[in-house]
Amino acid sequence: MIISNFIDGNFIPPIENRMMDDSNPANGAHIAMMPRASALDVDAAVLAAKRALPQWSALTMIERADWLDKIADALEEIKEEIAQTESLDTGKPISIARSVDATRSISNFRFFAKFARSQEPLIFEMSDATNHVHTSPLGIVGLITPWNLPLYLLTWKVAPALLMGNCIVAKPSELTPLTADLLAQTLQRIQLPDGVFNLVHGLGPEVGQAILEHPDIAGISFTGGTATGRIVARTAAPLFKKLSLELGGKNATIILDDANLDTVVPGAVTAAFTNSGQVCLCGSRILIHQSIYDEFCKRFVEQVDAMIIGDPSDESTQMGSVISMEHLQKIESYIDLAVEEGGEILSGGSRAMTGPLDSNPDAAFIRPTVIGGLSHLSRTSTEEIFGPVVTLHSFTTDDEAIEMANCTEYGLAGSIWTEDAERGKELAERVESGIVWVNTWLHRDLRTPFGGVKNSGVGREGGRWSLSFFSEMTNICVKH
Ligand code: NAD
Repeated sequence: MIISNFIDGNFIPPIENRMMDDSNPANGAHIAMMPRASALDVDAAVLAAKRALPQWSALTMIERADWLDKIADALEEIKEEIAQTESLDTGKPISIARSVDATRSISNFRFFAKFARSQEPLIFEMSDATNHVHTSPLGIVGLITPWNLPLYLLTWKVAPALLMGNCIVAKPSELTPLTADLLAQTLQRIQLPDGVFNLVHGLGPEVGQAILEHPDIAGISFTGGTATGRIVARTAAPLFKKLSLELGGKNATIILDDANLDTVVPGAVTAAFTNSGQVCLCGSRILIHQSIYDEFCKRFVEQVDAMIIGDPSDESTQMGSVISMEHLQKIESYIDLAVEEGGEILSGGSRAMTGPLDSNPDAAFIRPTVIGGLSHLSRTSTEEIFGPVVTLHSFTTDDEAIEMANCTEYGLAGSIWTEDAERGKELAERVESGIVWVNTWLHRDLRTPFGGVKNSGVGREGGRWSLSFFSEMTNICVKH
């Protein structure tokens, strides 16, 4: 398979004709050739977006909401293809690609279409004047996304950006370009006006950087690692571009003394190992009250040992590969570091290949790994690994749990598990984090603010926060 950039409604090869390889991390097999585009392609995409902007932004929000529903309908028709493609490109189990990636990619469009229809004009009356808040699009926006939830995270930005009347230049991760290509094919099929959505494939420092630097791109919505986020901020801030940064995490799962282990243990396993621990929201540090620590560890390790790891295309597989051999080596280096720091490997810790994947040196599998005995301040316990590795820690008081939860540079998400929901909610207010779940994890209402504090990001996405990011507001005060 050969994929191309999508510019001005057409699939076209990169101007400098450089291509690169896309492979399946579960077996190392080549799956596609993709563009290694350059700043020249970004220029062409921006030009197309510029031409499309006057007509697209002149539609009413309701007309654009109708387009979002049309996109959702069209994606629905290829839902299984989206899931299969995502599983192939990422190494994630097909069951997750179906229930999470494909489903949510479609519901992102549906949600924003419906949300748009519930918006009321913003009007503030004074005794002698009326204020009307008028929104207009930012213009051309750059969307840069990671590999862990490729179409899910891209559509989370595309839907509100289109809704608010913007034209798009998007760059998906170079590790997972295929479902973005499927989206472009879909938009071409339903005849979204040319130039409204443009896709440029390639490397971050080349295509991504060109998007950040382009003077005609007014806003950047970036999801990725904290280190890259620093580069994004450093480049885009002096150009006064509007910026949304959704970055890394090292999230705490806090288990209080009154928690019911029958529900908590499976909840903590899911929070730790969904998508091989490659979800920014994964609970990779588990803080357990001392009184239940031993019992929790025993049950947690039993459930982790029983997880089915293997061929992502197998319906029963619970954990597939990680994203690449390079990432696998990074994860292994953290497991080595954990041992150096005095940690004890309670489960996993080594490469895992099963069935036909046995002995394939290019299959990026690692067993879900549980580590005890580390200080909560150790590097293993505070740095983002972004893989199937969790550390377990015990605490004795709520204050100590909060201090441990807040001890990293990150502040994206967390969860608290207790039989006393009110106590959980009160404690949640003390966690330095953008999202805290009580007795659940990754339970999402798309109207709510999503984002991180500290080095996990700047700004919020979701519901009205997305609409606000992708628009400019003019307050028009009319004297009576
Ligand atoms: P990454 O930062 O390496 O890459 C993200 C995107 O940025 C890719 O498209 C990449 O090509 C691009 N990029 C790289 N260098 C660039 C540059 N100089 N200029 C512009 N773009 C550049 O991240 P990743 O490895 O793809 O994803 C994993 C990270 O993403 C983890 O840290 C994870 O926590 C984070 N993440 C955060 C969220 C969130 O919502 N907060 C969601 C998913 C993933």
